[in-house]
Amino acid sequence: MRKKLLIVKKFGGTSLATIDKIKKAANIVKKEVSLGNKVIVIVSAIGKTTDKLQSLINKISLNNDEKEIDSILSSGEQASSGLMALALKNIKINARSFLGWQIPIFTNTSYGKAKILDINSEVLKKEIKKGITPVIAGFQGISNEFRISTIGRGGSDTTAVAIASKLSADRCDIHTDVDGVFTADPRWVKKAKKIDQLTYDEMLEMASVGAQVLEPRSVSLAKNNNVALWVKSSSKNVKGTKIHNSIKIEKRNVSGIVFSKNDSKITLLGIPDKPGVAAKIFGSLADKDINVDMIVQNISSDGKYSDLTFTISEADLFKAKKCINQIKNEIKIKNVLPDNNVAKISIVGIGMRTNAGIAEDMFKALGQKKINIDLISTSEIKISVLISRRNLKKAINILHKTYDLE
Ligand code: ASP
Ligand code: MG
Repeated sequence: MRKKLLIVKKFGGTSLATIDKIKKAANIVKKEVSLGNKVIVIVSAIGKTTDKLQSLINKISLNNDEKEIDSILSSGEQASSGLMALALKNIKINARSFLGWQIPIFTNTSYGKAKILDINSEVLKKEIKKGITPVIAGFQGISNEFRISTIGRGGSDTTAVAIASKLSADRCDIHTDVDGVFTADPRWVKKAKKIDQLTYDEMLEMASVGAQVLEPRSVSLAKNNNVALWVKSSSKNVKGTKIHNSIKIEKRNVSGIVFSKNDSKITLLGIPDKPGVAAKIFGSLADKDINVDMIVQNISSDGKYSDLTFTISEADLFKAKKCINQIKNEIKIKNVLPDNNVAKISIVGIGMRTNAGIAEDMFKALGQKKINIDLISTSEIKISVLISRRNLKKAINILHKTYDLE
């Protein structure tokens, strides 16, 4: 007899955007249950509910009462978990909704960006044993202050992986409105293809640069706990993308291309070249919780001055400019040039570890199309370049072709 599996299935907001879609999702669950498998369902809030709740909060409150905010933000998942349980019952699946505190999912007190500390598996195990399909509200937990805390936007992917890990599930399926992870965003590259499998590291790099299918934290959690993770369609019966540890079969160099348009570049001109300056600049940015991504420094030919260019998230630009202005006179920076018209493109692939020519191909391809590169950064399996935003589409398409991804 075939082994009965325990499967965690998460449905995102777009997959639950209408009652019809909720019914479709319920049928996907039913299909697994009919095979004799046990399923735990995790839901995100319906459609854009969380955004709408956030805009209500913005209208009423200038004081940041993070505990009340979390109580409001988490309510979207209360509705969707109940609706999903009803949809399942309608098709004769014995389901029951759970909020984070009813399991409980224990979180710390960093409201709005809480960490999951532990999950009690007893309640869920008992329900599953009784033949019940639990439907869990994602994105939320309970702190030791007995308040609801949310775990950060997009957090229900992490809820799903954490539950799969705690209950040693055979698989964690993240259902979304696309067929899987693509070689590039199909809205930008017509010939983009679905990728059959990726390593955790590749997925992590892709998710942190801009592939929106998975929340990056969920990928690291899956990697650390060896959870077999899948990205699957919530409407079509296609195979999806498997994310796991080792891929031996393929000799490909680059697996995918991702981009981000949410970065800004700041150039500091004419900084006295002496020890401690970089520490001062980046230290003061770090103090304000501003993450710096790419950095490049040039020294003038007389060795007295340097220019420093770095990128930050566009959302931090205002804060960063203020921060730099505060230290500008002290350090004697001659000029500060912010630039919003940039985009970052990254090529990702485990093949880079062994193939040295990949970077060269990237620079050549961009050069031939007269696309100027502002900044470069590399990791073991990723090369990122910063270019002008208006060249973004051209650049992604040429790179997609360069690496034979079509
Ligand atoms: N509903 C939450 C959000 O929109 C959590 C999630 O979608 O995963 O961020
Ligand atoms: Mg989501």
